[in-house]
Amino acid sequence: RIVFLNGSFLPIEEAKVPFMDRGFMFGDGVYEGIGMLDGRLIDNEAHLERLERSLAEIRITNPYTRAEWTSFQEELARRNGMTEGFIYFQVTRGVAERDFFFPEDTKPTVAMFTQAKAIAAAPAAQTGIAVITVPDLRWQRRDIKSINLLAQVLAKQAAREAGAQEAWLVEDGFVTEGGSSSAFIVTKGGSIVVRPLSNAILPGITRKSLLQLSKKARIVLEERRFTVEEAYDAAEAFLTSASNFVLPVVSIDGRAVADGKPGPITKRLRELYLAMAGAPALA
Ligand code: PLP
Repeated sequence: RIVFLNGSFLPIEEAKVPFMDRGFMFGDGVYEGIGMLDGRLIDNEAHLERLERSLAEIRITNPYTRAEWTSFQEELARRNGMTEGFIYFQVTRGVAERDFFFPEDTKPTVAMFTQAKAIAAAPAAQTGIAVITVPDLRWQRRDIKSINLLAQVLAKQAAREAGAQEAWLVEDGFVTEGGSSSAFIVTKGGSIVVRPLSNAILPGITRKSLLQLSKKARIVLEERRFTVEEAYDAAEAFLTSASNFVLPVVSIDGRAVADGKPGPITKRLRELYLAMAGAPALA
């Protein structure tokens, strides 16, 4: 398995990050995750734009241009023989003696890896998944894609221990988003509901594409917060993320969503997303 570290492609066993890296010591960095389908990066420009924003917000200079990022991503996928899956990369503030203040003259550390995964034919897309709700314990700048993921680690582990596949995070009675996904419901009237962008959630790239697709398909969108009770009572529920595209949510806190099967609007949106991403069977 080949990974990318600071400009080099090398076997994962040889890819070592120094002990004093601020990513390791402070979680001082940001990341991105991008889906690949049929050898193509999905929505890569939007992911690179979000990376630029995350870096600017925490004042790390972006080490590469978009063209450089893209060539590294493509080269890494090629070297690993990956045509479908997930590409992860992170940028930390770099290596320096442990001290909270920004170090001077430190170069960011850049690490990238690939994970082959069946996204288009994922079994969960047919069956749907279960989610549980847990309190959202994260910090107040969730719009920054920070590598600090402790609240998500705990939330998703709680989901697993409850037999669910994702946690929906709740603040003041309203769902913010999933541990690693954007959360949607479909009302009985057939409109989709998603929380508006703010510092309370990550601006999901798949969310953004999905909203464009739903508009073209003339599905009514209500961009507003929704409560846990509304989700229990919804006609359908689903989540979006770069590594899953659109996944039906068929149970919330052990209660079936409607008849407990993936709903028609969710299925349609998944198909539209797959077609947009150029899935061979549907393109
Ligand atoms: N929300 C959170 C907290 C996430 O971690 C992610 C993805 O990792 C998402 C939403 C979905 O974002 P995207 O569609 O850009 O993958």
